[in-house]
Amino acid sequence: MTDSRLLDSLRNILPAQDVLSTPTDLDRYSADALTPFRAFDNAGMLERMADVVVIPRSVEQVCDVVRLANTMKTPIVPYGGGTGVMGGALPVQGGIVVDLKGLNKVLSVSPMDSACVVEGGVVLQNLCDALEPHGFIFGHDPWSLSIATVAGAISTNGVGYMASAYGPMGSQVKGLEVVLPSGEVLTTKAVTKGASGPDLNHLFIGSEGAFGIITKATLKIVRAPEARSFSSVTFGTFDEGFQAVTEMFALGLVPTLIDLTEEPDEGVVLYAMFDGYTEVVSAQAARAIRVCASHGGVESDCARTVKYWDERHSSGENYRLNMLDQPRSVRWNRPRARSFDYLHIALPISKVLEYRKRCEDILEGRGIRVVEYAIWTHPELFSMLLVPDSTNESRPDELGRSVDEVLSLAQDMGGSMEYCHGVGVKLSHLLAREKGPEYDVARTLKQALDPNNIMNPGKLFR
Ligand SMILES: Cc1cc2nc3c(=O)[nH]c(=O)nc-3n(C[C@H](O)[C@H](O)[C@H](O)COP(=O)(O)OP(=O)(O)OC[C@H]3O[C@@H](n4cnc5c(N)ncnc54)[C@H](O)[C@@H]3O)c2cc1C
Repeated sequence: MTDSRLLDSLRNILPAQDVLSTPTDLDRYSADALTPFRAFDNAGMLERMADVVVIPRSVEQVCDVVRLANTMKTPIVPYGGGTGVMGGALPVQGGIVVDLKGLNKVLSVSPMDSACVVEGGVVLQNLCDALEPHGFIFGHDPWSLSIATVAGAISTNGVGYMASAYGPMGSQVKGLEVVLPSGEVLTTKAVTKGASGPDLNHLFIGSEGAFGIITKATLKIVRAPEARSFSSVTFGTFDEGFQAVTEMFALGLVPTLIDLTEEPDEGVVLYAMFDGYTEVVSAQAARAIRVCASHGGVESDCARTVKYWDERHSSGENYRLNMLDQPRSVRWNRPRARSFDYLHIALPISKVLEYRKRCEDILEGRGIRVVEYAIWTHPELFSMLLVPDSTNESRPDELGRSVDEVLSLAQDMGGSMEYCHGVGVKLSHLLAREKGPEYDVARTLKQALDPNNIMNPGKLFR
C-alpha cells in the first residue's frame, strides 16, 4: 500500500497520469531482465516492489522529485529501458522508481562537431534513426539497441558490437547533465579533452544511478563508413584464435567487430569486420587474414559474418516483443533465464588462457558445462556461458557457488568480475572484494553527495 502522503506530494509535482501506483504498474517496474535464478543467493532482493512510479518530462520535474525524496528520506531508483541483466534498476528498498522515458528527445545533431545532444531517456535505436539522415552512426551498438536508453547504457558503461573500434558506451560521452541527490543540476563541459581538474563524467559512467540521475548527454557520433569488410576465420583451437586476435591488436589493427567464439557444434570461429575509409579497410582486412593464417586460421565464407552482423539485434528484439511488458512472474520464468549464466570477465591479456584452464579445473565434476567461450571486442574481454547438467538444473545454489568462485579467481588474477553489465543486485556482494581501498574512496564520495542514501540504495553501496 503506497504511503498516501508520498502520493499526494508527487501529484503536486507531476500530472496525475505521470504518477503510477496500481499493482500492475508497480509489478511492471519492479523488475528488469535479471531473474531470481541468475541472482543466486541475492534472489531475495528481487522481491521488494516499488512504492510508486513517476514519469517526469523535464529536468525541473526530476529535480522536484529528487528534492521530495530527500525530504521524505525515500529511496529513488532511475529506470531506463529496464533491460539491465544485473538488477540495477530494481527498487530493493522500495521507494520511487523514476522512469526516464519522458525525457526522450534528440535535441541536436552537429556533423561538424561529430556530436549530438540528447535527453537521457532516448532509446538507442531512436538515436541511430535520428543520425542516419545526417550520414552518421552511433558507436555503441548492443544487442538491446531497440530498448536500452542512452542514460541506462552510460550508467552500466555497456559494450556493443562496434566497441573494438569505438569503445564502450562511456567512451561516447563528451558531457553530461545530471540531477544530483541534493536536487541540484550539474553540467560538465562537453569537450574532447580537458586538463582543468578531474573529469566528473566518470563519476556517473558505470555508476548505475548511485550518484545522480542523468538527464542529458552530449555524445560523440561517427561518420557512416565508406566501406565495410566482413571476414570469417576458423581455427583448430581457441588458443590459436586467441593468439591471432592478440597479434592483430598488438600490430595496431583496429577492427570494428571482433568475436572469437568456441561452441560445441560450430568449433572455433572468428567473426571480424573492418569499416572506415576504403583504402584502410581493405589493407586492414587483408593483414588480419594474414595474421590469422600465421596462427593456423583458415578463411571461410564471409557470408557467415554478414549473417551474424544482420542478426545481431535479434535477441534484444525478441525480448522487446515477448517479455518487456510482461508481469515479472512471466519475465522471471522465461525458459532461457532458468537454465544458464553468462559471465563477462576482464583480465590482462597474458592471463586469459591460464584463467580459462583454471576455470575448467574448478568446474570439473560439478555438473556444470561451459557451452561457449568467447573473446568479444578486445583480447582482454573473455566470456563463458555456463549451463548446469540436467541432473543439476534444480540446484542453482551449485551454479551460484561456482560462479562466485570463478569470478573471485578473476579478481585474484588481477582482473574484473564483469566488463559489460554492471554490478546491480547480482554482484554487489563481490564489489568491495574486487575494489579494495578504491571502494572505500567511492563510498566516501557517495556519502558526501548523498548523505541520506536516497539514490539507488542497496546495490553498488550495500
Ligand atoms: C536481450 C538483451 C540483450 C542485451 N545485450 C547487451 C549488450 O549487447 N551489451 C550491453 O552492454 N548490455 C546488453 N544488455 C544489458 C542492457 O541492455 C544494458 O545494461 C543497458 O545498457 C541497460 O540500459 P537500460 O536503458 O535498459 O537501463 P536500465 O536497465 O533501465 O538501468 C540500468 C542501470 O542504469 C540506471 N539508470 C537508468 N537510467 C538512468 C539515468 N537516467 N540516470 C542514472 N542512472 C540510470 C538504473 O538505475 C540501473 O542501475 C542486454 C540485455 C538484454 C535483455
